[in-house]
Amino acid sequence: MLQEESSEKSKIAESEELNFDKPNFKFVPKGNHEWRQQGYFIVCKSCEIEHATFIGPKKLLIGFNSKNEPIFKDRFKVEGRQNLP
Ligand SMILES: [Zn+2]
Repeated sequence: MLQEESSEKSKIAESEELNFDKPNFKFVPKGNHEWRQQGYFIVCKSCEIEHATFIGPKKLLIGFNSKNEPIFKDRFKVEGRQNLP
C-alpha cells in the first residue's frame, strides 16, 4: 500500500510540483469521479483538476454503478435491439 502511494507520488512529481502534505489538499481516490458527458468525452467535475476521457461517438453515459463507475450504453446497439424478437 505504501509502495503504491510513493510510486504514484513520484510519477506526478516528474511533471508537476504538488504538495501532498498541504492540509487542505483534497485527495480524491481513483474511481470516485463525477463524470458528465460532453460530446464525445466524459469530463470529471469532482476533481480539483478537470480531466476528460474520450469515449467516442457510439457511447452514451447513462448512469453509475455501486462503485461510482460510469455505465455506458452503445447508441447503435440500443436501436438494433428493438428489431430482435
Ligand atoms: Zn476525477
